[in-house]
Amino acid sequence: MEHIDKLATKLVKYEEYYNKLKDQSSEFKNYRDLWKKASNFEVETRFPIQIELELSNACNYRCGFCPYAFKKEDMPKGFDLPKNEKIMDFNLIKRVIDEGSKNGLMALELGYNTEPLIYKKLYEVISYARQKSILDIRMSSNGHNLNGEVAKKLIEAGLTHLNVSIDAFSEETYKKVRSSIFYKEVVQNVLRFIKIRDNMSLKLPSVRVSFVETSENSHEVSDFVKFWEKEVDLIAVQSLVSYSNTPDHLKKKIKKNQDIVYNCHQPWTRVAIKSNGDIKPCCSINGMEFKSINVKNISVLKYWNSTPTKNLRKNLKSNNGHKNSICKNCIESIDEKNN
Ligand code: SF4
Ligand code: SF4
Repeated sequence: MEHIDKLATKLVKYEEYYNKLKDQSSEFKNYRDLWKKASNFEVETRFPIQIELELSNACNYRCGFCPYAFKKEDMPKGFDLPKNEKIMDFNLIKRVIDEGSKNGLMALELGYNTEPLIYKKLYEVISYARQKSILDIRMSSNGHNLNGEVAKKLIEAGLTHLNVSIDAFSEETYKKVRSSIFYKEVVQNVLRFIKIRDNMSLKLPSVRVSFVETSENSHEVSDFVKFWEKEVDLIAVQSLVSYSNTPDHLKKKIKKNQDIVYNCHQPWTRVAIKSNGDIKPCCSINGMEFKSINVKNISVLKYWNSTPTKNLRKNLKSNNGHKNSICKNCIESIDEKNN
């Protein structure tokens, strides 16, 4: 099955992942089918299918391509937040989940572009979302803090999908790309998570590993896929999306005069909410430059159906993404566009 995920993501084993969810329940099947239709600009939903919550504007890693590794003054606009805005208020999270629950929200992604395992109330957020019948409760982590106890607590709280970003197939490359010496531990953490899930006789959480391809690690993509396809439900190989001050040496050479298709489906499927409550039409780092509107002052429903958000969707559907300078920069900065 052909599938479009994020702007620059190639998915391996999507068919198996889809079948696993389809077997889980008809709700999961309907949700993935709707996601596909919205991603293909065939359906404009009245509420986002997925809400992404930043939880905390922080990470315990410093990957070379990520703004957390940059000096404060070099970070892209809107990326970093003042100290007092870095931790998302739990009551605000509950309010957003309540609104989502009333409006048929299907998926919640926890901690986009950050590390969710450092958010103290993570299990409570997952349990609350489960209680409010959010179908797919997802998170993406660097896997460093994913010990056995954490794994068990996440599964018991009701997590349904875990992504671990690895980006390497050797200790040496991992150290280069992720500035960490804990490659083996992270690999073991993922394998143990799967084992704990299987021992509990559960099919979910589904487990995905991801690989952001840069000039430093692209030689390991095929070994990475070969190893992980035997272990996990899904593999994502992502192209690097650059932004201001991304180190030049990490970018692959973009072919000159290549045809650029100015579309993107993120504002068709989701909204992202930063830890201070600012709501954005996508989770990309470039997208942090979109005008700040705070979810304390506007409902998600109103934001989703506002004229600027609708116009953004309309332009992206008709390949006119270049009409918005933020999207133009974002789309033109992708090493290799996969949709
Ligand atoms: S683990 Fe993720 S959020 Fe943290 S520095 Fe690396 S890319 Fe950025
Ligand atoms: S900035 Fe625009 S093109 Fe980039 S992910 Fe966001 S909506 Fe899509």
